[in-house]
Amino acid sequence: MNSLCPHCGWPDAEVYQVVSRRLTRDSGLMSWTRCACGSLQMRQQPRGKETAVVTRGRPTADMATLRHGHPELPSV
Ligand SMILES: [Zn+2]
Repeated sequence: MNSLCPHCGWPDAEVYQVVSRRLTRDSGLMSWTRCACGSLQMRQQPRGKETAVVTRGRPTADMATLRHGHPELPSV
């Protein structure tokens, strides 16, 4: 896997944070991970195969706020 997060450019191969992991019925692995930007990813790894990012969420609101820049807001 050599894709990058479209939101922050973090390499998908380097998991930032694992939120949950569980085995699927057919001995594959399904995991939810969080990217550095806060976007959640659902990853699926069929047994004996490479992990693939199935779906990807949006970055957290904080990140969106930072990106668009709201100087009127107090800094966190
Ligand atoms: Zn990201």
